[in-house]
Amino acid sequence: MVKGGWQSMLAGAIASDRLSFELPARRKFSRDFFHFSPVLSRELGHEVADCIVWPTNEEELDDVLSVAVSCRVPITVRGGGTGNYGQAVPLAGGIVVDMSQLNQLLEVQGDTISVQAGAKMGRMEAAARELGKELRIYPSTFQTATIGGFISGGSGGIGSIEWGTVWDGIVRSMTIKTIEEKPRIIRVAGEHVQPYIHNYGVSGIVTELAIALTEKHEWMQWAITFDAYNEALDFGLGLADNQGIKKRLISIHEAEIARYFTTLKLPHDKAVALLEIAQEDGAELLRWVEECGGTVSLRIPSSRYHLGTGVSDHAWNHTTLWARKMDSNMTYLQTRFSPTDYWTQMAALKAAFPECLLHVELMRSKGKLVVSGLPLLRYTTDDRLQMMIDFCQSIGVSVANPHTWRLEFGGRSPELVRLGQLKRQNDPYGLLNPLKLEYSLGPEQAV
Ligand SMILES: Cc1cc2nc3c(=O)[nH]c(=O)nc-3n(C[C@H](O)[C@H](O)[C@H](O)COP(=O)(O)OP(=O)(O)OC[C@H]3O[C@@H](n4cnc5c(N)ncnc54)[C@H](O)[C@@H]3O)c2cc1C
Repeated sequence: MVKGGWQSMLAGAIASDRLSFELPARRKFSRDFFHFSPVLSRELGHEVADCIVWPTNEEELDDVLSVAVSCRVPITVRGGGTGNYGQAVPLAGGIVVDMSQLNQLLEVQGDTISVQAGAKMGRMEAAARELGKELRIYPSTFQTATIGGFISGGSGGIGSIEWGTVWDGIVRSMTIKTIEEKPRIIRVAGEHVQPYIHNYGVSGIVTELAIALTEKHEWMQWAITFDAYNEALDFGLGLADNQGIKKRLISIHEAEIARYFTTLKLPHDKAVALLEIAQEDGAELLRWVEECGGTVSLRIPSSRYHLGTGVSDHAWNHTTLWARKMDSNMTYLQTRFSPTDYWTQMAALKAAFPECLLHVELMRSKGKLVVSGLPLLRYTTDDRLQMMIDFCQSIGVSVANPHTWRLEFGGRSPELVRLGQLKRQNDPYGLLNPLKLEYSLGPEQAV
């Protein structure tokens, strides 16, 4: 129901089928996957926008923004709503701008694909593959996540073992709209994209992106099982370093995790490495499996790639999703182990917190191999969770806390100072995604 004031102005600015004031829609589009965290579930579950809009072109987006700016209404941008930190949750009511209809694939030129920000990454990957190319990296949620949401709220995923993270040059350029009476269109390229990456959309609305592609490969999917977790991890680390084998995914799991992967039908008492390996390197992989004492428990031919449920649907934070299907008290941490002392750190973590189940994604960051952990644990209390975070930090394991919505505590943006400056310039009234980056707001800007 339209109440008057800015709500009636908005109803006059955008067609009624692209706007909803109804509570079920407002609830549905005010959520993301924050429920992976019991802390965020408790603290964000009640937050709800005053209305949702689905602009289908830039003019409609401009009309919505014009009402929001003139009436000082908070705006929270939403892509696919698959983020885990409540990034897309409106903490001060107002308007959720759903970008999913601004989704055109504009062009593929050389090794770059240009798209509108609401394009789903699954469509981008399929379009690139038809032209003999593929995305360098994408999250395990690529079929539902948008590229704008991945760059503004994600970090890495399938392909990160070769190409690194969202900060590692996959964004060639971005077009950003500011939140002002006379909005500016900013086009950033090269290093200037950095403060706009993983910033929860607090410093402008991304409307278009140019994303780097690479040559397409035919990928086979594998599950290799081992008697012990350290054997699986050593196998994965050796594979990561093997330049003769092209890979897109190396995801290592403790034996207790395999039982959650019901569709893969793996042995329940074995540690497992989930892999995507270029078809032509299959024989070399098998040699490495034999040398490391592994067993091939699943092999999916490249003709089945991206058809049905694949191994990447069990990697990255999909691992947590499968665990939560069986036990809704399961949650996780995001950690980074030392590249040299990882095994000592993991053993210490297991000894202090036996409930922790080890899950590692091998990836690169700025070219260096990173042992990135998404350990699972059964939630008991906030104190126990905090004790585990403190313990990790005390033994040199860094933690990007997935149990906070605050960018400066949970996010991994290395650009917080520049981001604060951009926030002030591009969003002078502090309307965009309020309270996610509190420190950047002066008293005159608080919503
Ligand atoms: C099961 C599961 C597995 C996951 N696996 C991964 C993974 O492998 N790697 C990974 O990095 N993440 C992962 N995630 C988190 C998430 O799915 C990804 O980061 C995804 O790319 C987010 O895209 P989205 O379109 O859903 O963004 P949303 O959740 O809609 O938004 C994310 C943030 O970006 C902002 N935003 C969205 N669009 C724009 C825009 N156009 N302009 C400005 N700001 C914008 C939003 O305001 C929000 O702050 C996973 C989540 C789940 C639930």
